[in-house]
Amino acid sequence: MSTSKGINTICTHTGELEDKEYQGAVSPLYMSTSYVFEEVEVKRYPRYFNTPNQVALAKKMAALEHGEDALIFGSGMSAISNTLMAFLHSGDHVVFQDALYGGTTNLVTEEFHKFGIEYSFAKDSAVDSLEAEIKENTKLIYIESPSNPLMKLTDMEGVAKLAKKHGLVSMIDNTFASPVNQNPLDFGIDIVIHSATKYMGGHSDILAGTVISSSEYIDRVRQLAKNLGGNLSDYTVWLLERSLKTMGIRVKAQNENALELAKYLAAHDSISKVYYPGLKDHPEYELAKRQMKAFGGMMSFELKDTINASAFMKELNLIKPSMSLAGVESTILLPSKTSHGLLSPEEREKQGIKDGLLRFSVGIEDFEDLKEDLTQALEKFK
Ligand SMILES: *Cc1c(COP(=O)(O)O)cnc(C)c1O
Repeated sequence: MSTSKGINTICTHTGELEDKEYQGAVSPLYMSTSYVFEEVEVKRYPRYFNTPNQVALAKKMAALEHGEDALIFGSGMSAISNTLMAFLHSGDHVVFQDALYGGTTNLVTEEFHKFGIEYSFAKDSAVDSLEAEIKENTKLIYIESPSNPLMKLTDMEGVAKLAKKHGLVSMIDNTFASPVNQNPLDFGIDIVIHSATKYMGGHSDILAGTVISSSEYIDRVRQLAKNLGGNLSDYTVWLLERSLKTMGIRVKAQNENALELAKYLAAHDSISKVYYPGLKDHPEYELAKRQMKAFGGMMSFELKDTINASAFMKELNLIKPSMSLAGVESTILLPSKTSHGLLSPEEREKQGIKDGLLRFSVGIEDFEDLKEDLTQALEKFK
């Protein structure tokens, strides 16, 4: 389907399967792992990514990110690892930006040496810093924007041009923005991946991933992925299609809540800093306006030094501590004790992650209730 349709129409309808027998309102679910061969070439099998529900959802994913084709995986990490491996051979080199999702960093630092794949982490996410790491054998540049947890942005158009100049494949983890707020292919990036566990699933009950690109690149990933075996079960594919129907309106509500809460926190005298790309004093606010449609539901903030962040978290009633993010419910965590807890204090300091930094995933609850929860907790430390 063309991408001329609006985001909510794509979310609701694109790719849906017709129920020819009963005219039901939603896509029928086909759980078969065995299909009669109609033509010998078309062997339908879940691990080949070609069952009816997988193909239907892939059409929706492709439309959401303005790509030609997509694959659905059993996790975000499965989408990331399969896609990287599809484009890298032993002896190749990859450039990664600095702040990456922890699981991606682990994949690179713990596994790549087994396959003879070389890599460099740029000193930050600036285009010049990425270029400085390019070598003779570099094949791919990998970025993430906004990044976790400090919401730093990477200039997607700049990276796409850099990759073209050096004949490299460019790839982005677009999980934090969601396809509602940012479409990297429009800026010339080659490949987009998402942890669909986050905004796409949106209800903290589905683990999934997806990759979206040109048909040529997706064929290449599919070729490898068939052998590695990381597809999502058709039942969960069907649930994810259901979740995506409301992604546009969920993320819109999260964007609106987050922007208002970021302004509220920035003005509060118990808060020393707020990291949110939609605030005018965010160092990349102009870039945010250029490449994002709205600024998302994720932010982080620092409390004044006199307030203990763990104690503050315990005073919150509505906003719950949680490792995951992007669900309809608001959650909060301390990166220094969780996602970045394994780093040395010096390494955390270098990355700008203070002990009192809180990462806040804003849900769809009413703004006034979220504000009230933060206010009453902050009051306790006056
Ligand atoms: C959660 C997450 C992943 C990994 O996804 P899983 O579904 O947990 O495998 C990758 N990137 C980002 C930015 C994430 O938040």
